[in-house]
Amino acid sequence: MRVDISSHVKDKLRKALRASGSREIGGVLMGEQIEPGHFKVVDLSIDSQTGGRAHFVRDTEAHAEALAAFFRQTGHQYDRFNYLGEWHSHPRFSVTPSTQDVSSMIDLVEGGRGIDFAVLLIVRLHWWRWITCSCTLFCRGAKPVPVDLSEENR
Ligand SMILES: [Zn+2]
Repeated sequence: MRVDISSHVKDKLRKALRASGSREIGGVLMGEQIEPGHFKVVDLSIDSQTGGRAHFVRDTEAHAEALAAFFRQTGHQYDRFNYLGEWHSHPRFSVTPSTQDVSSMIDLVEGGRGIDFAVLLIVRLHWWRWITCSCTLFCRGAKPVPVDLSEENR
């Protein structure tokens, strides 16, 4: 599994992280399948997390709307453009997924939501400029594995 992130999305992320300071933010990742096992993050939704460290407690309606808009823009080609996973920031601690992050993601892929796999991207902004991140792949019935995230230069 390989995941690229477009420069445009990284810029969007950097701006959002700058604006949010020490508040955690997060959202969903929209992906494009370049070829089997190779995805690119082409967009993401952004909102403030509610409940501090309680990840994944979000306005699901807002995310459903963001996804619906993405499907419209990409012509409902679900095989190519689809939900890729979740992201959030760890403004004050390392980008390693917490125990709670891991169990939330396992619930997501093991639950009856029709999601076979999802990536979790955790990001942190350093010195207002540099982003460090971790990217982890969660598949139904398999152990989480780290994924290389590379920036696509355009
Ligand atoms: Zn987290």
